[in-house]
Amino acid sequence: MTCKDCDKRIEHQQFENSMESLGVPLCDRHSRLIKKVILDNDTPIEAIHLFYALKEAGAHPMLEWWDGKKSVDIAISRVKLNIEIDKDYNMITHEQAINDLEDAMHSFKNGFTTIRIPHLAIKYYLEDTVKNILGIISGLRANIKAI
Ligand SMILES: [Zn+2]
Repeated sequence: MTCKDCDKRIEHQQFENSMESLGVPLCDRHSRLIKKVILDNDTPIEAIHLFYALKEAGAHPMLEWWDGKKSVDIAISRVKLNIEIDKDYNMITHEQAINDLEDAMHSFKNGFTTIRIPHLAIKYYLEDTVKNILGIISGLRANIKAI
């Protein structure tokens, strides 16, 4: 078993621990790093799963990327794509809803595309979610070339 982040070999116990707490096999160092990211940013666990799935697919994602105003769950910087994970639609307030839209407008003005992905899509359809994001990335790349 190896760490999904650095490919370092991990012991069985470490594998069990990180699978249980994060759902991703990570070495001791990366488990601690990811847990700190989650604590600091209130990052949903689905963002961690999506981050590593995108990394594995070769999309070069960045976790909790600071865009100058706020932290974005996942960013694909070379195509200026920001990915936000929506935790729970039922919990969203009307202020949050309009703030989200306003944030999307601001980043769009700066040349960034923001997509919001419901956490359930990642939880149940991780592979399809990754496939769709890869499609969005190649679409964005084609647009960049066209300019
Ligand atoms: Zn590692």
